[in-house]
Amino acid sequence: MRSADLADWIRHAAELVTADAGRLSRLDADIGDGDHGHNLDRGFRAAVGALPGGDVPPGKVLIAAGRAIVSKTGGASGPLYGTALRRAGKALGDAGEVDAAALGAALRAALDGVRELGKAERGDKTMVDALGPAADAYDAALADGSDLAGCVRAAAEAAAKGAEETVPMQARKGRASYLGARSVGHLDPGAASTALILGALADVTG
Ligand code: ADP
Ligand code: MG
Ligand code: MG
Repeated sequence: MRSADLADWIRHAAELVTADAGRLSRLDADIGDGDHGHNLDRGFRAAVGALPGGDVPPGKVLIAAGRAIVSKTGGASGPLYGTALRRAGKALGDAGEVDAAALGAALRAALDGVRELGKAERGDKTMVDALGPAADAYDAALADGSDLAGCVRAAAEAAAKGAEETVPMQARKGRASYLGARSVGHLDPGAASTALILGALADVTG
């Protein structure tokens, strides 16, 4: 992948987030304050507007998108998604081309950034429950010899499954944790949006 491919991902993710903003905010209304889709929509629009032109290193695309998301997205998810993208961008360094191994390392760096900032672990009913399985599935596919597109597909499928698995969980981080046992039985909005955004990456990588 080159910088134009990552810019395509951010643009496609922004389209999907805009289309799904209502659903994501309704999920958040069930166990939070009902703004998740609209927070992310604002953030991803800003990210699209901040995409650097020209042939910059791919890592710079993600860093620019992450910065825009941090500055324009309200709520807990803005700093978390912004950190994920910036950390992924930093992990890519100054290389001009991203291969399957480099993208896997970037995904892992994104997960580590979210975990450090949000202090959530798997099972806490957050985006970590989608991003964690995605990083693991990516690495497993890479070890099995899959190409970049195959690794991304595996990661996106694992994120979707991980998001579904948040339904029976009780939230231990974020606003949903205030509900205690009443958070059980609902899909976590941040895990759902993580699955959507990784699905967008699978769409653009084929
Ligand atoms: P807010 O809760 O501030 O309104 P959003 O609605 O935009 O923010 O985002 C809520 C989502 O953020 C949750 O569904 C969850 O996935 C994620 N989240 C919240 N707190 C954390 C945390 N500490 N670590 C990881 N993810 C978190
Ligand atoms: Mg919210
Ligand atoms: Mg909020």
